[in-house]
Amino acid sequence: MPELPEVETLKLGLRKYLVGHKIQDIDIRVPKIFQGDQNRVIGSKVTDIKRVGKGLIIELNNGFDLAIHLKLTGQLIYQGTETTRIKVSDKAGGALPSKHTHIIFTLDPSAGSGQAAKLFYNDLRKFGWIRVIRESEVKDLPFFKEMGPEPYKHPDLNQKTLTLSEFQLIVGKSGLPIKILLMDQKKIGGIGNIYANEALFRAKISPQKKANNLSDGEIKQLYKEIFEVIRESVNLGGSSDVNFVNALGQEGEYQRHFLVYSRAKEKCKRCKGTIKKMQLGGRGTYFCPNCQH
Ligand SMILES: [Zn+2]
Repeated sequence: MPELPEVETLKLGLRKYLVGHKIQDIDIRVPKIFQGDQNRVIGSKVTDIKRVGKGLIIELNNGFDLAIHLKLTGQLIYQGTETTRIKVSDKAGGALPSKHTHIIFTLDPSAGSGQAAKLFYNDLRKFGWIRVIRESEVKDLPFFKEMGPEPYKHPDLNQKTLTLSEFQLIVGKSGLPIKILLMDQKKIGGIGNIYANEALFRAKISPQKKANNLSDGEIKQLYKEIFEVIRESVNLGGSSDVNFVNALGQEGEYQRHFLVYSRAKEKCKRCKGTIKKMQLGGRGTYFCPNCQH
């Protein structure tokens, strides 16, 4: 599932290419993905793109917004005359529309061209959604309202950056395995399986360790590593280990820098021991039993 760095990467790309375009038409091929009245957004202009946790908001100039959650395999890819030389990754179907394209937005042509631009929504598993909402209702969307502060310095809308003292409180109060706690969006927004695994390895903490058994030093170290791993991934355009692509359909690079995630049976870069995989809370969990305690 795209996590904070992937959705942030997508947001930055859409800000660059989609903002300023007018939505001229919407072709809805899988109705359950597009929720609400398309006529409320046809004819409006995109004014900005925001991210909250793993969710996206496309802001329009007519009092409505599009709230989007990519869930496991959603993709949003822009194509206009200024992007014709860019090759869309095979992870997005190579050429668009693909058999996994479920919504197509037709946009007004980019400046200086006569050809309409497009925004494609692809989704292999079809769990994602796009919802038409009033701008004033954004803050009431359940997954925004209940979202915890984010381990990121540049939050949008009313989101807050997670502070060390908040993190100490969250960790100190929970008897859950630390990895499961890190992925609870109501406590901390934006961390999923990849970055929970990576941050715990870097902080040398076992994913199974009960949160309230972490020492002060471990909590501080983990706090620092979470911010760093997220920031590094945003700088490298996110991770494309499954099918994440950016706003132009290109893969990110952070998967090349994973230290433990998806590296079961490989050598630990720190101690030369062997990385193990186990299930924790139903998710594949990667760790080095030698380095993480
Ligand atoms: Zn190790």
